[in-house]
Amino acid sequence: MLAYRYWGDKELRLEEAPAPVLGDEGALVKIKACSICGTDVRMYRFGSEKTDKGRIVGHEMVGLIMELAPGLPGDFKVGDYVSMAPAIGCGECYSCRKGHTNMCDRLATMGFQYDGGFAEYAVFPKKAFFMGNVYTLPCLNDVVPFTLSEPLACVINAQSYLHIEAGADVVIFGSGIIGCMHAELVRAQGARVFIVEPSEERRQQVKDLLTDVTFVTGGKEGAAGEIIRLTGGKGADVAIIACSVGSAQSDGLRSLAKCGRLSLFGGLPGDGLGFLDSNRIHYYEIGVFGVHASTPAQNKTAMELLYSGKFDAGKFISKRYPISKIETAFKEVAEGSILKAVIVMD
Ligand SMILES: [Zn+2]
Ligand SMILES: [Zn+2]
Repeated sequence: MLAYRYWGDKELRLEEAPAPVLGDEGALVKIKACSICGTDVRMYRFGSEKTDKGRIVGHEMVGLIMELAPGLPGDFKVGDYVSMAPAIGCGECYSCRKGHTNMCDRLATMGFQYDGGFAEYAVFPKKAFFMGNVYTLPCLNDVVPFTLSEPLACVINAQSYLHIEAGADVVIFGSGIIGCMHAELVRAQGARVFIVEPSEERRQQVKDLLTDVTFVTGGKEGAAGEIIRLTGGKGADVAIIACSVGSAQSDGLRSLAKCGRLSLFGGLPGDGLGFLDSNRIHYYEIGVFGVHASTPAQNKTAMELLYSGKFDAGKFISKRYPISKIETAFKEVAEGSILKAVIVMD
């Protein structure tokens, strides 16, 4: 089968790989679609120390169960469309016992420590079934938008810390797919949304996808100055950094009102040191929150939002590619000309 593998030091190659066998694991899944995540693009641009060499990448996948191990929990059957929360906890460590399985000490993630979804077949580990990470899709027509349930789950995780209320002012840095998803979810809670996006091309790309958001370019005045002015001098109640840019973290902090909340959604390449003014955090009583991956429960919530039509993920998918064109897809996403790319198998 064709598979897209990581070989260390920014090297990703589309190559022929042996089709996997079920062995002692949970399910053999024929991949239907797998979308390209910001994390995948970071691996493509900067490499990844967290990813095993030779690993098939991709973690935002949906597929069809072809073969199933006996004795799994739940009522899965051959022929079901399934998706999964790709970060699989051990179930035993302190974080897992507290329900934060995404914070597991021995976290193992599809596309990083297990082979992922940029291939014709993948094996879903037994552990994923026992930890509740796998879930059945409720419909069989266009399953492609469901690949976005994983990034949406991460957005839900981030916002769970932020206490966003109706009427609040929320500023989002970056209007990539994550920034757009944050904006939609914030608006649904009745808050006002500002998006800091310096790229004219990107603003044009998303302006028709989002309604009732105010774009901020961060020109002469600087993003923080503009946000403070637009919020009547008080600053935003919440700032979400949905990009991997250190100066956006500094600007986000500076754009906040007293008692504001800052969410560092995008990780930074390198060590991530030196962007936050601790005195500002201290004197303004700012809450700073990290976020990493998501839990199975958040993935199920995301899937329900998509299925019920409350969240329209399909509109954010800019382009579908066959796996033979995955290299083009990565190139186009990395260049910023595509908002969200999904690899769709035949
Ligand atoms: Zn992802
Ligand atoms: Zn654990």
